[in-house]
Amino acid sequence: MKKFMLILGFFALLNGLLYADNPNEALSKLKEGNARFVTGTQIHPNLDKDRLLNTAKDGQKPFATILACSDSRVPVEAIFDWGVGDLFVIKVAGNVADGDEIGSIEYGTHHLNTPILVVLGHTKCGAVTAVVKGDEVHGHIPALVDNIVPAFESAKEKHSELHQPELIDKTIEANVFQSIKDILSRSSIVAELVKEGKLKIVGAIYDIETGRINWLGNHPEETKFVDAPKEDPHSKHESHESFFTSSNFIFMGIFILVVSLLATVLIVMKTRKK
Ligand SMILES: [Zn+2]
Repeated sequence: MKKFMLILGFFALLNGLLYADNPNEALSKLKEGNARFVTGTQIHPNLDKDRLLNTAKDGQKPFATILACSDSRVPVEAIFDWGVGDLFVIKVAGNVADGDEIGSIEYGTHHLNTPILVVLGHTKCGAVTAVVKGDEVHGHIPALVDNIVPAFESAKEKHSELHQPELIDKTIEANVFQSIKDILSRSSIVAELVKEGKLKIVGAIYDIETGRINWLGNHPEETKFVDAPKEDPHSKHESHESFFTSSNFIFMGIFILVVSLLATVLIVMKTRKK
């Protein structure tokens, strides 16, 4: 029995060594992978049949969650030189963070325990360029690009001397930080993980010409957004359904007061008539 426990302990430790990355280790794994990609020395890990079988059988244990742009020139696993079951990737035009993206990020960081979240913008991003140029957009695209507008506003304000294409580059950077801000100020789950030191959120920009990633670090105002009150969609929903809200109590109080006043007046009038 003792031997069995020892073996079990050994495997738990091995598993821990293989999977329980801390945020800095996970970041190093991404940086090293991108360096291999840039220099053409990829090792293409975790792409064989065994990896498919093992991840299908044991489930996924990715070490990083990545929010990237849908752009076909940003193939996330390839540019980090990782394979199957390594990265939990959310791809959306303009790497924006709206409800569905934030939900996916919560799944990657909280449910799958990835210790790092990278918001990855890229050079020559079409979605960001459309916003800067004020292009007319149709269909469902306006709802998508409205997340980029605040980034453009802040880039314009900070760099009033700049014009295109420099202003586009600055907006791409501001847009990465805008997504980080949107995630932190809307998700209490992600904010809590950052607060506990279990999760690191970093911004980065991928250069589609060189393949190199420019790491921007964390949001300069991270603490402010972590501590900001959240509009938790669940509690908001509940408060709508609940009868016992403060406004309902005030309404009931006024209603009872008015009815009793009316009753008193009626009783007084009736007794006087007699
Ligand atoms: Zn893009």
